Amino acid sequence: MATHKLLLLPGDGIGPEVMAEVKRLIAWMNAHGLGTFETEEGLVGGASYDADKVAITDATMAKALACDAVIFGAVGGPKWASVPYEARPEAGLLRLRKDLKLYANLRPAICYPALADASSLKREVVDGLDIMIVRELTGGVYFGEPKVIQDLGDGQKRAIDTQVYDTFEIERIGRVAFELARKRNNKVASFEKRNVMKSGVLWNEVMTALHAREFPDVTLEHVLADAGGMQMVRWPKQFDVIVTDNLFGDLLSDIAAMLTGSLGMLPSASLGDVDPATGTRKAMYEPVHGSAPDITGKGVANPIAMFASFAMALRYSFGLAKEADFVEQAIANTLNAGIRTADIKAEGCKVVGTREMGDAVISEVARLAGA
Ligand code: NAD
Repeated sequence: MATHKLLLLPGDGIGPEVMAEVKRLIAWMNAHGLGTFETEEGLVGGASYDADKVAITDATMAKALACDAVIFGAVGGPKWASVPYEARPEAGLLRLRKDLKLYANLRPAICYPALADASSLKREVVDGLDIMIVRELTGGVYFGEPKVIQDLGDGQKRAIDTQVYDTFEIERIGRVAFELARKRNNKVASFEKRNVMKSGVLWNEVMTALHAREFPDVTLEHVLADAGGMQMVRWPKQFDVIVTDNLFGDLLSDIAAMLTGSLGMLPSASLGDVDPATGTRKAMYEPVHGSAPDITGKGVANPIAMFASFAMALRYSFGLAKEADFVEQAIANTLNAGIRTADIKAEGCKVVGTREMGDAVISEVARLAGA
């Protein structure tokens, strides 16, 4: 069996608390033959600043570049509010994304039936929802130049951001979306604004050509991003994979988060290019939530987003689909059994802490795996 090298970066706040549960799951899987994982650990964010005065050291970056997947907790907190800008905790996360060239951000929005009532939308709209948002992460208006505020000299200023995309950037994110769709329900919706933006015209052209050339078996639909946003809250289950640029993806993935109930439930993956030598992609997996300073140290953080992020690593980095299914099914079964952390509590359910939720999920994985 292949050995998978993981770099664990727990970070700050509840990051180490939820990572501790994934570490227990990894140890359990190693002990029961559900994979062979070698783990190393490193500091990132405020924890790295406290030790080394930078948000991530070159040595930790070298480990991130050498491993098969990075599993990231969360960074930040009031303790580091006044550290120098370039050493702020988020700089560690940004450097990882940049140096690993992670251009594809995958955010599944899954609404577990047991939690459908926690959504702000009606149960029938979200119950059983399972969509994947693929957001372009390293281009577009957040990075395009010029990016300035000019003084016009007459008491006025002018702010300029530049939306810019090249063909190769659209093709590579499109490929990620089409390949994912083939493993799901074979449908891609490409969101842009071709009616008012040149970048939307090119995005549409490139997606159309890529589809015809490499993925004719997948259904492709072009959607104007504003109308698509409306459809996402009207009837989100019509979508399977949504692919879009950095700006629209930022907004749409936060809307998708609200469809599913709680921040403590949402995993994400960021992927880079396939290495032709090994056939694997650079990848980082992390919960969507932050370091939650308000509940840090209380033992109440929900570890499900962290578990689900690890399940994505099993599926997308290691091809361990069956094992990923075990983890995801164990999460669903635990919720169905009425076991909840405080952030997702409901009437008649048993409220537990981080550790007990970890115990419940791991013992359910064991039952499903017959180990
Ligand atoms: P947050 O996600 O940390 O917390 C928002 C709310 O959700 C809080 O009430 C928190 O208690 C709750 N929450 C979040 N995760 C939870 C979990 N697993 N279980 C139970 N409840 C959970 O966002 P914030 O409060 O805006 O930011 C706090 C810090 O985290 C800031 O320093 C911010 O910069 C940082 N942050 C980091 C990341 C990251 O590391 N990727 C992402 C977002 C925010």
